[in-house]
Amino acid sequence: MSFIGHSNTAIYVANCLLRAFPPTSRPKLIIGGPDVGYSTEGYIDSFLPLYSDQHLEIKFVIYIGPGEPYIKALTETGFSLSEKSIFMEQDLEHQLVRGAQVLRQFSASALADQGWRRYYDLSLFGDVGVKWASGCKGGCKFCCEPPRRADYRLAQMTSDEADHIVTQDASKLLISAPDFLNRPSMASRIIDSLPSGVNRLHFSARVDSLYLAVKHYPNIWQKFAAKRHRIDLGVESFIPERLVWLGKYRNLKQAAKQQERLAYLLEFFRPTKTSIGFFIMPLDWRITLAEAKVEAEQLQCCLEQYDYIFLASQNIAKIVSYATGSNFSSTMSSQDFYRFDDPRLLFLHYLIKNKRSLLYESIEIDSRATHLLEVVISKVLLRCYLLCLERLAMFEGECFDLEPILMLRERKAGEQKILDTFYDQLKQKREKLKQSLDEIFNEESQGMAKMITQELIRTLCRRIDASELSDPEKEKEKNRIVIAVVSQCRTAAV
Ligand code: SF4
Repeated sequence: MSFIGHSNTAIYVANCLLRAFPPTSRPKLIIGGPDVGYSTEGYIDSFLPLYSDQHLEIKFVIYIGPGEPYIKALTETGFSLSEKSIFMEQDLEHQLVRGAQVLRQFSASALADQGWRRYYDLSLFGDVGVKWASGCKGGCKFCCEPPRRADYRLAQMTSDEADHIVTQDASKLLISAPDFLNRPSMASRIIDSLPSGVNRLHFSARVDSLYLAVKHYPNIWQKFAAKRHRIDLGVESFIPERLVWLGKYRNLKQAAKQQERLAYLLEFFRPTKTSIGFFIMPLDWRITLAEAKVEAEQLQCCLEQYDYIFLASQNIAKIVSYATGSNFSSTMSSQDFYRFDDPRLLFLHYLIKNKRSLLYESIEIDSRATHLLEVVISKVLLRCYLLCLERLAMFEGECFDLEPILMLRERKAGEQKILDTFYDQLKQKREKLKQSLDEIFNEESQGMAKMITQELIRTLCRRIDASELSDPEKEKEKNRIVIAVVSQCRTAAV
């Protein structure tokens, strides 16, 4: 099984699935995939206690490379989870890292030789994952994807597969590839060959690879963008030096081009129906407060200018973290990622994380939040994040001692406890900083929920202004939206 994140929903779903089997024939639970590589401890902490008391066989696998050899090995050994039977015979490089089996094996059957037919009812699923590309030669230092040349399915096969899926009413196709456009010509050929019934595709891409695809094959991408697809862009940073340090580009000259290329892409997709998601890395252990401010301001500029950009709120104040198999993680422990040169920024990471959780509790939304609401929440959180950065600049970095914080992390203390420990270190300055930061989130005690309601109305009204409606129709539509939003947001103190 593969889970996206180790959220309460994922744990709940796993529990339901396993309980659906009689106790005598419960399946084995294998939790694997790239997400486990990014948060091994989180997965182990979340799932192990849940199942150990039910006498289930459970295994955490971090597979670095294509997954097919592992599945093949499992089938050949009758799905035995014993390490000896599976790994030794298959000659897979393996090691145990914090309770998870880490496997490396880079050769797999070519995608052109792999079958794609599903022998079950796809109409039961809203989203269907398709494997049309694999591999990325990027080599970013924080990423668990090993650098290798990308492989693609043949365009005819993807077209047949898409046809097979859309005729069964599955509405969205998720292309599971680290950078679908790694080879722009191959990916563009696939896009060009898709049947007209494919209306919602979702995939990830680097800024430079999407730029090259759009530049070289403008007709294909213009046609594509006329539909409600979504592209998640690995932007990571707006500072060229940081992009080089993160390993996104080999040199400053290449990195400096990203901003210009991003601007081109945002204009290209602006009048279309396709939306663009941003992946960013706003914080890391060596970033300065001034750099963090530049990152946040640039991001805010993009979000204000382009309403259609999607940014998950977890991305605000996100830090570069341990990922098994990544270049950074080969020389650093998971704790090292938290040894910030400027402890104020680690404090900020915990503060925003904490406020975000409280916010989600207060407005009674969770991962089911709509796309638009998530966009709006991100905008409000980003505004608060920037204001916090300004206030923190007035406090000396030395006020905080990181060692007690790292010890708490080691002991898996909750974020509230970590935040309280940060505050307690300030002694007499504690109340001053706390009050100053709380003011931002309460905005003179109006509360975050109200800020979100206001931002939601503002965003919707801007969209109406940009529409082709006549002026009286626009006014009517705006009034209707205000009433609809206010009545939906009952918990917001409007
Ligand atoms: S972050 Fe994206 S571009 Fe970089 S190595 Fe990973 S998949 Fe490739």
